[in-house]
Amino acid sequence: MNAAASTFLLPDTGEPGFGVYIHWPFCAAKCPYCDFNSHVRHQPVDQPRFVSAFLREMERMRALSGPKTVTSIFIGGGTPSLMDPQTVDAILSGIARSWHVPDGIEITMEANPSSVEAERFRGYRAAGVNRVSLGVQALNDRDLKFLGRLHNVEDALKAIRLAREIFPRMSFDLIYARPNQTVEAWEAELRQAISYAVDHLSLYQLTIEEGTPFYGLHKAGKLIVPDGDQSATLYEATQDITASEGMPAYEVSNHARPGAESRHNLTYWRYGDYAGIGPGAHGRLTTGRDKLATATERNPERWLDLVEQDGHGMVDRERLGLEEQADELLLMGLRLREGIDLARWSAFSGRDLNPDREALLLEHGFVERIGNSRLRCTPSGMLILDAVVADLAC
Ligand code: SF4
Repeated sequence: MNAAASTFLLPDTGEPGFGVYIHWPFCAAKCPYCDFNSHVRHQPVDQPRFVSAFLREMERMRALSGPKTVTSIFIGGGTPSLMDPQTVDAILSGIARSWHVPDGIEITMEANPSSVEAERFRGYRAAGVNRVSLGVQALNDRDLKFLGRLHNVEDALKAIRLAREIFPRMSFDLIYARPNQTVEAWEAELRQAISYAVDHLSLYQLTIEEGTPFYGLHKAGKLIVPDGDQSATLYEATQDITASEGMPAYEVSNHARPGAESRHNLTYWRYGDYAGIGPGAHGRLTTGRDKLATATERNPERWLDLVEQDGHGMVDRERLGLEEQADELLLMGLRLREGIDLARWSAFSGRDLNPDREALLLEHGFVERIGNSRLRCTPSGMLILDAVVADLAC
């Protein structure tokens, strides 16, 4: 763990912070498993026009949030590393004009190995980005091709080396539970990944999302993914190896050395507020006892038109009452190894957890108490997280 990372360790104090999320919605090609809001354009994107729209929507979000101190910024996508460094610089400067941005807060940007060049990385760093998250996804060329990625292993390793050299903090993503992937092959790949990692890794199981090309292939029986038991074995192997290498899971799919957790993602999972800006971005902004759930238009050009016409691209704005906030807190918080603060949940819901339901989950070993004040999922509870949440929310 480097010295910079240790300063980011934040215990759950009940003050989950305020994040700003920026969504860049373009990719060079669409991966066949992806259901994110990402679009391919065959003409160059008018980046200055997008910058103006980001800044206008930011003003609107600032009006809704009121003055705040930002604790993290995350530029996601899509492929934000297709942005020019000047675009990133203009967006970060806009955030600093809208809210108070203390020096040294975590500023993450996602990048794809295929769009990485040293000069651009240095430009992002000069603009203020201090953490990069690379979409590596696999460490063998056959699987990268199967996943529709534009990079090969050599590109990925080059990007990792550059990121380590230029940014104080870095993470990368891998997708496992691929067709025909044996536990032994995944274990070897994971150990290799850990040897390249600094202090953070995101490890996702391949999921088949409706509306994607993989969904059609899967439905037609042409793409077979590991079944429930195989997935559970792969998941357990992932937990064991990362824990033994000092990078245990702090969330279902995220692993870090202590102190190197993603500050921004912790804000989501600890149910803090965040402003979501850009096409298809979601936000949560507390206003009195309510929380405003915001969502913007997903199509980039329609979003641009809306912002230019109305000053924002919000198409959904829902007030969440306390009971709904309690449900969301449970849903997000139980993803974390630290679990939830029961008093905070009760403050939202106005009640305690149903003792019979909790007792049953405790008896089956799906949840456990941490002292008197916190509840978390056990590793076996994590495998059936949705069911645990549904049970406790009643
Ligand atoms: S690069 Fe990422 S966001 Fe873009 S299509 Fe692939 S998985 Fe989706």
